[in-house]
Amino acid sequence: MTLTIPFDNSYARLPDTFYSRQAPEPVRAPHLIAFNEDLARILGISVGDVKEMAEAFAGNSVPDGAEPLAQLYSGHQFGHYNPQLGDGRAVLLGETVGTDGIRRDIQLKGSGRTPYSRQGDGRAWLGPVLREYVVSEAMHALGIPTTRALAAVETGEVVLREGPMPGAVLTRVAQSHLRVGTFQVFAARGQLDSLRRLTEYAIARHYPKAEGPMGLLRAVRDAQASLIAQWMSVGFIHGVMNTDNCSIAGETIDYGPCAFMDRYHPNTVYSSIDRMGRYAYSSQPEIAVWNVAQLATALIQQIEDKEAAVEEATEIVHAMPALLQENWMMRFRAKIGLATEDEGDLDLLSDLLTRMAQNQADFTNTFRALGSDKARDQFTDPTAFDDWAEGWRVRLQREETPQRVMKAANPAFIPRNHRVEQMIQAAVKGDYEPFHRLGSVLATPYLDQPENADLTRPPTESEVVHATFCGT
Ligand code: AMP
Ligand code: MG
Repeated sequence: MTLTIPFDNSYARLPDTFYSRQAPEPVRAPHLIAFNEDLARILGISVGDVKEMAEAFAGNSVPDGAEPLAQLYSGHQFGHYNPQLGDGRAVLLGETVGTDGIRRDIQLKGSGRTPYSRQGDGRAWLGPVLREYVVSEAMHALGIPTTRALAAVETGEVVLREGPMPGAVLTRVAQSHLRVGTFQVFAARGQLDSLRRLTEYAIARHYPKAEGPMGLLRAVRDAQASLIAQWMSVGFIHGVMNTDNCSIAGETIDYGPCAFMDRYHPNTVYSSIDRMGRYAYSSQPEIAVWNVAQLATALIQQIEDKEAAVEEATEIVHAMPALLQENWMMRFRAKIGLATEDEGDLDLLSDLLTRMAQNQADFTNTFRALGSDKARDQFTDPTAFDDWAEGWRVRLQREETPQRVMKAANPAFIPRNHRVEQMIQAAVKGDYEPFHRLGSVLATPYLDQPENADLTRPPTESEVVHATFCGT
């Protein structure tokens, strides 16, 4: 058995202004801790023996056909433009066209220093690697567009963070790693040939029907509007919605200090670095519009007739809030069992959410319980639910299969932050049982799994995780 990856590397065929060729830095003692066989099959990978896989996914041996490189990009971080970012701790090995015909990147994250590392060590520690593995695969199982996890390897090396931590490398798979920031870097530098080339590349790879830069802008806007509404519908908070973490393909990318909400409150923030609450749960739609506006600004640079381009781009961006609202309504209607539309639905939903916030209701469990008589127990004052439910039940009379609609829209299982933290703490001590258990339960999040009911329980006061930290 030999590991074989059918690489076909379109990015490496682009001009060298787009990246720096960079091999991963070998590590001392690679040990394979997880490998996603289902995903490997889709990618067309033939699996090798464990030792060979550990070497390859740690970066100690570069598989045949790979052309490792670090991608250049820039971006707005917390609203401030940083003229150069780039893969500082990641290398793209290459791409495969999967059995489903989709082209995907295979990237090592935590694979050592690159020309874009600046002060960083180019490494990752086990915690963020396992967090991204579990949360991105859970996101996929929830049916939400996301990068995926192919493998995780312990490096046998120590990484210095708050203290010495075990080092690890994640193999990440994405429809591409093109970001809003990939466009921004060429626009800001006035490298218009590269900007044009990138625009053509992105259209060909992701939106072949889109026409020109404004067609691309429209397509990315639509993909982001759909994505953010889906995050909102499962209580997900990305945590660092910088423009370099905003995917052109519309996937959830760069899982750092992200988390799913337990108790519902619109202002919830988890990220320890988000001191102003810029990326709070309820701010995400607004920030997505801001990010798409930055893409518009970058794309316009390549168009001759600036006045017409600004007008068209403005119109495209200005239409995004209404699109977000439409997507949000579609997702949240389903959460309360509605397949049809009615004028009063927005008020009905807003009223429920207000009552949930006032009564410290658990986001996931409240919606999941709507189909039973247990929902009221989620409220500190259950009559707050009863009052709302009266109007809701009247509305439901016009629905045919509300139970089915709700079950498909309301997961029983999400990767709760305290469970993710417990899983990481166990893994650091060498116990991977919680990691494997979380992975297997979260693979079917819409199924009741009575034997795993403990994983639906919100955190106790002492288990609550108040802040999550960056993957750095
Ligand atoms: P992120 O917050 O993970 O999206 O990363 C922001 C930027 O910092 C990117 O350019 C990363 O490549 C870079 N970066 C993050 N962590 C490290 C690290 N440990 N070493 C080098 N660069 C890093
Ligand atoms: Mg990033």
